Amino acid sequence: MFHVKQIPVTQRCKMSSILINMTFVDKGWRSSILSSLCYHCPLDSRTGCCKIKSTLFWGDLGFIALNHPELLSEILNKTTGRLLPHGISYDCITEKCTFLTETGCYLPREAKSLMCRTFTCYGLELDSHPIGGKWTMAMERLSREERQLNSELSAKTLSLKLKKPGDLMGRIADFISVYQSIYSFEPVWLKEFLTEKSFQMVISKPELLSWRLH
Ligand code: SF4
Ligand code: SF4
Repeated sequence: MFHVKQIPVTQRCKMSSILINMTFVDKGWRSSILSSLCYHCPLDSRTGCCKIKSTLFWGDLGFIALNHPELLSEILNKTTGRLLPHGISYDCITEKCTFLTETGCYLPREAKSLMCRTFTCYGLELDSHPIGGKWTMAMERLSREERQLNSELSAKTLSLKLKKPGDLMGRIADFISVYQSIYSFEPVWLKEFLTEKSFQMVISKPELLSWRLH
């Protein structure tokens, strides 16, 4: 789910085993997992797994408002965006995520939703690797705790009485202040799961990896 380099179909069919570098980027709540497989995406290489209707949750939007304010207006005013109780959902444009551009994802890595920051092909079986298994547990806990914080943030965002995504611009100072009060600490427990922050694995049939279900 990262920037994907296109590989011609003929080359993809001949692809044999490849060595993959896996990296855990420790950024607290905004952590991510990088897989070099994504640079050789064996699937639909133009879009990889970015053929989805994506969602930015209130926690993602708070992070963007605080750290990437220059992107906010465009993100909030996209015609594909729909306001939901837990954030903004974006419809696909011709079967691709609304944020996918010719050069990869428009969003900075740390601004993407947790799923987009941590998805790895199911066929990699990250959870059965001794190091990857710990990362998987860390991400599951991160996801549980983030859901809880986001539900508190959703409840408070309701009081802003937004009618459409763009209305958030007019209430941005209130929203950032609520976001900061809820995300006022970092998940310090994360380090316990990160005894190693990178490893390598060999995939013998990359073309058979299963694609994201949605
Ligand atoms: S489909 Fe798999 S290899 Fe391709 S971009 Fe997504 S996670 Fe990476
Ligand atoms: S937000 Fe970015 S990484 Fe996530 S599906 Fe869309 S283009 Fe892909």
